[in-house]
Amino acid sequence: MKPLRNPKNPEVNLARIAMLGELNEDENIDFRMFLKEQDPDKVDRIVHRINKEVTAQIDCRQCGNCCKSLKPCVSESEINRLAQIKNISTGEFMSQFVETDSFDGVKFLNDAPCIFLNDKSCSVYPDRPKDCRSYPHTHKHGFTTRTIGMIQNYSVCPIVYNVLERLKQALKYRVSGR
Ligand code: SF4
Ligand code: SF4
Repeated sequence: MKPLRNPKNPEVNLARIAMLGELNEDENIDFRMFLKEQDPDKVDRIVHRINKEVTAQIDCRQCGNCCKSLKPCVSESEINRLAQIKNISTGEFMSQFVETDSFDGVKFLNDAPCIFLNDKSCSVYPDRPKDCRSYPHTHKHGFTTRTIGMIQNYSVCPIVYNVLERLKQALKYRVSGR
């Protein structure tokens, strides 16, 4: 089965996106190499244009898949705030809900689905961590420096999936003969 590439019809079916993530794994690895050969500023301009189109077509409130599948990074102040919301001490919150990466020391919420997910909505939305606010990071500069993360998120997040598929079209990736 091939991915949908019609910009007017974003793919939002999570099961299909997960399946296409597996199916297109080799293509995405190759596309990553292709992106490294492109002008990073040009790629950013195109990604930001496409990202506006895609985010206007996809309602995160109908999805919530990132909150079900990923573990957001949290800062000390975010941990304090979330512990307050849970009405427990920072130490208790840390021991129950936070993990620390042994490689780089980054702290992140340890459960997926997230403990703050309520159906498809965030129950601490105004206080959600910065990492949650900026996910899926498609609005940021330096897209060509974050291609590993984008490819990992391709099978999780409909926004990333559709942005990457439209980016392949915009850069004539297939037409380039790779
Ligand atoms: S804190 Fe909220 S936005 Fe962040 S992962 Fe949990 S439910 Fe999702
Ligand atoms: S950011 Fe992506 S995975 Fe998260 S709710 Fe929105 S579309 Fe779904």
